[in-house]
Amino acid sequence: MMASTPLRRASAAVAGLSALGLVSAACAPGSSSDSSAFPDRNIEIVVPFAAGGPTDTVTRLVADPMADDLGVQMIVQNVEGAGGTVGAGQVANAGADGYTLLMHHIGMSTAPSLYDDLAYEPLEDFAPVGLVTEVPMTIIARDDLEADDLGELFSYLQENEGDVTLANAGVGSASHLCGRLIQQELGIELQEVPYDGAAPAIADVVGGQVDVLCDQTTNTTGQIQAGEVKAYAVTTPERVESLPDLPTTAEEGFAEVEVSVWHAIYAPADTPDEVIERLRESLAVAVENSSVIDQMASLGTAPVPVEDVEPAAVTALLTEQIDLWGDVLD
Ligand code: ASP
Repeated sequence: MMASTPLRRASAAVAGLSALGLVSAACAPGSSSDSSAFPDRNIEIVVPFAAGGPTDTVTRLVADPMADDLGVQMIVQNVEGAGGTVGAGQVANAGADGYTLLMHHIGMSTAPSLYDDLAYEPLEDFAPVGLVTEVPMTIIARDDLEADDLGELFSYLQENEGDVTLANAGVGSASHLCGRLIQQELGIELQEVPYDGAAPAIADVVGGQVDVLCDQTTNTTGQIQAGEVKAYAVTTPERVESLPDLPTTAEEGFAEVEVSVWHAIYAPADTPDEVIERLRESLAVAVENSSVIDQMASLGTAPVPVEDVEPAAVTALLTEQIDLWGDVLD
């Protein structure tokens, strides 16, 4: 299922809004509260998945230069559970002062289709700061699984449908979404094994306790390079430089299994505009930081172009993706 170029589409959408003069109106300072001293204490950034996983990794990479720029510490808090919805719900209800932020990914747009009782409204209960990165996914398995390429793996899944275990980081996580795309493509239902994050999920793939996982390069590159897991394909139209031998799903004949994982930072709704702008400035510094760029490259990804570090880019992409995944997942 095609969902691979959300940022390019979002940029186009934002360019369209700019042409209509709507972006500057949407971003114009609207709050009169005195936030000129912001920040005067440390900022907490909630990662809604387990420590050591891909969302945690991306967060810690950008938090350091943001903290340097802001002159306070950025404290990463892992609030895992229910595919990222527990942590997101916590931030939706936090003080609207810029001191509690959320790093979330594509799961922000899939949760409304997957949870009838979602405790927050992605487009209403958050004030977006900016886009951060878009991460390819990889399809991997325990290293003794008897399939040597993606075609063989998918045949194996079809032939052993009732027995194969498919790990994910909970309903609504990116790994869950990729797993759904694979099962839809093959017309099968595997035994899904939910974890609180992709870090514990991949640990069990390496240990052989679970068979298959589709997860982001920011979580799988090291294990693939070390030969600890079997790797079959990357889910983006192009190969990734850090894993040059890994074919794309399209090259292997499964172009429909195509997804990449966009990330954004959010504050609670009603956070003053000048606070959002100060946070946006620090995120813009982070995406242009050479160490962030190098470390992301070694993990198969890159920061977004600095012009996508802005609230309207997140809103445009989130709106589009809620619709897209509503059609796919309903
Ligand atoms: N982002 C991962 C996923 O959705 C979870 C994690 O960060 O641990 O699968």
